Formats: sequence, C-alpha cells, structure tokens
Amino acid sequence: MRHNDADFIRHNLAVVAPRAADVTSHFYALLFLRRPELRDLFPPAMDVQRDRLLHALIRIVGDLDDAPALHGYLGQLGRDHRKFDVIAEHYDLVGECLVAALARYSGETWNDAVQAAWVRAYGATAKIMIGAADEDARTNPPHWAAEIVSHHKAADDIAVVTVRPDVPFPYRAGQYTFLETPWWPRVWRAYSIANAPDPRGLLTFHVRSVPAGWVSNALVHKAKPGDRIKLGAAMGEMVVDHLAPNPMLCVAGGTGLAPLKAMVEELAYYGTDRFVDLFYGASAHSGLYGLEDLLRLSQKVSWLRVRPALDDLTLAGISGGISEVVGEYGPRFDCDAYLSGPPAMVLDSARVLRRLGLNGSQIHHDPVVGAYAAEAEVDVPTPVAVDAPG
Ligand SMILES: Cc1cc2nc3c(=O)[nH]c(=O)nc-3n(C[C@H](O)[C@H](O)[C@H](O)COP(=O)(O)OP(=O)(O)OC[C@H]3O[C@@H](n4cnc5c(N)ncnc54)[C@H](O)[C@@H]3O)c2cc1C
Repeated sequence: MRHNDADFIRHNLAVVAPRAADVTSHFYALLFLRRPELRDLFPPAMDVQRDRLLHALIRIVGDLDDAPALHGYLGQLGRDHRKFDVIAEHYDLVGECLVAALARYSGETWNDAVQAAWVRAYGATAKIMIGAADEDARTNPPHWAAEIVSHHKAADDIAVVTVRPDVPFPYRAGQYTFLETPWWPRVWRAYSIANAPDPRGLLTFHVRSVPAGWVSNALVHKAKPGDRIKLGAAMGEMVVDHLAPNPMLCVAGGTGLAPLKAMVEELAYYGTDRFVDLFYGASAHSGLYGLEDLLRLSQKVSWLRVRPALDDLTLAGISGGISEVVGEYGPRFDCDAYLSGPPAMVLDSARVLRRLGLNGSQIHHDPVVGAYAAEAEVDVPTPVAVDAPG
C-alpha cells in the first residue's frame, strides 16, 4: 500500500456510506452472477451477511494505520473462512466484485487513484488472509465435526450444550466460535465457549433461544446427545492476559456469562492473586442460571467476588440494570473490564465505564453485530464477526 491509500479509501467509504446497503447487495449480485456455484457457500438468507460484509470493511479500514491489529484481525478471518470452503482463487474474484460495486455507487468521486488504492489495499488484505489460511491448513481441519455429549435446560429458554470435537480444538478461555447445526446447513452463528480448555477436550456452550431464531431454537429445543454439529476456528480477542497485574471487572448479562466463566475457570486453574469482581445481571432469576457454581467458587478462593443483579429485584442481589449497578458500585480506575451479554448491555456498560474514567484500551468485549454494530464502531472499536465468506 502507498502512504495515502488509507486516505483515499476512508474518503471513498464515507462517500458510499449512505448507499452502503446497495453496495453490499450489488457486490453479492455480481459475485453470484459471475460464479453462480459460489451461492452454495452462503446461507439461504443474505441480510445478516450483507451487514457483516459492510462492518468487516469498516473495521478493516478503521485499522489501516494499525498494522498489528489489522494483521491479527485478518488472520482470524482468513482461518475462519476455511470453514466455508473458501480457496485462494476466490479472493481475486471477491476483490474485483467489491471494487466494481464501490465504483458503481461512488459517482463522480471515483477515479483511477481511488481504484488503485482499493486494489492495493484489497490485495494486501487478501494476501494476509490467504497466508493465515494456508498456515492454519498445516495443522488444523477447515472445520471441526463434534458430537453433542450432553444437553440440559438451565432455564426454559437456555440450554447448556457440551460437545466433543472429533479432533482437538485449539482455543483460549474467553473465545467464541461459529457453529453450524444439521437443521440449518450453511447458517453459522457465533457462540462463546463457556469452559476453559480441559484435558478431555470437551467444549460447553450456553445457548438462549431468541424468538424465531433459527440456530438458537434448534440448539435449545431440538438438539440432543448424539447429534453432530460443526465448529469453525476459535475467534475473539477477549482473553486473559496472565501477565497483567490489574484487577479484573467482569460484567455479564444472561448467557454472556459463558466467556467470563471460562476466563474465571482459567484463572482458578493457573492460580491467581488478581482480584476479579464479577457482576452478573439478568431480567429474571431464571436468567442467572450459572450463579450457584460461581458463588461456590467465590467461597473457596479469595480473589473472586460475584455480585448478581436482577432488573426486577426480588430478594437477593442488587437491583437495577447491570450497567447502572456497575456505575453505582464503581470500578477501580486501574482495572481491566470485560463485558459480555446482549449488545445494548455491553454498549451501556462500556459507556458507564468510560464516564467513570476507564479508557478504551481497558474495556474489552466481543464484536457487537446487527443493529447495534454501527453504534459500537463509533463507541469502542471492536472486531466484527463475519459469518460467511465476505
Ligand atoms: C461474538 C458473539 C458471541 C455470542 N455468544 C453467544 C452465546 O454464548 N450464547 C447465545 O445464546 N448467543 C450468543 N451469541 C448470539 C448468537 O450468535 C445468535 O445471534 C443468536 O443465537 C441468534 O441466532 P438465531 O439463528 O437463533 O437467530 P436469527 O435467525 O439470526 O434471528 C432471528 C430473529 O431473532 C432476532 N434476534 C437475533 N438475536 C437476538 C437476540 N439476542 N435477542 C433477541 N432477538 C434476537 C433477529 O433480529 C431476528 O429477527 C453471540 C453472538 C456473537 C456475535
């Protein structure tokens, strides 16, 4: 890339932003027109997909001046895309269609210099993704087949699902992966791994069924031991830094407990004197399905404090939405904060923490996708999940 390519690209993305949905629709239309067989790699419904392509682009452009962050993010994307059977030759076609779609909606602002900047930036991006995918292929399969070995309901709408991958699945406590179920082929959804790596190689997921949700309802209400699912590569940057001395503030909402529970388990496994203050919120008591285990652990170790909060407080715990509770009880300024749960809760908590003096680098959370993603990008730069090639 040349030194002013990033400026050309940022400016161009600002120009097309009001027509972003058209750009992404046109991109996929061109892609499938030129190579109809690629349609089979994507889910039946493309709306989520179009959003995610756009947000991935915004994330990449946002990181153009931060080579290590960009490299890390693209490496994860390249490895993850192997699960869709993406191969190196697809990248050229994707680049051509992307540039053509951007050109179409850039009007008179499109010129040779803008085009050349995009071509160079895309070339560099694709090279990193292909390199990461090739390296990953030396040791890992494109996806992991796994058998469900246990399934139980923690509440009417929450299932705790444990799977055994056929071959070892490398990951770190706090990461998530995309799952594909036999009921919705090619529809991959992100779920956090709720346990630290264990010697038996088992992975547990906490899944809440959302109204009319395809994959979550299948996992909560249909799945049973013996069913087989697929897992993509582990993703996410919300992991424990074992060398950091700061206390940790963990804020979990509902099944957002999963990655934080895994991180706490990892700390317990390795031993720590790092203080962990874990706030755990839900709208009803049944949503605090993981509370007992955590309370039990907090009674055994001195470094963990667990504070439940219910929106409609009954007896125990603290009242109020979890972000208000965190604000009221106040974190230490030197803490590292880890947030996990519904997007609105994560963004509210991040806002409260920043107001209380924490800076962006102290606040960690997984990608916020869907309707809240644009807000997240303005608020706190975070990686964006892409759940099919894009
Ligand atoms: C990094 C990451 C980690 C995640 N980890 C977990 C996890 O550990 N456990 C977990 O249960 N989920 C988790 N999710 C959410 C999960 O990926 C799916 O989005 C969720 O299960 C819905 O998928 P679906 O196929 O059932 O619904 P879809 O078919 O995608 O959606 C159906 C309808 O439900 C709406 N909808 C989607 N999500 C929600 C929601 N959360 N609340 C209300 N309505 C919704 C959609 O707008 C749509 O109208 C995570 C998401 C991300 C990005």
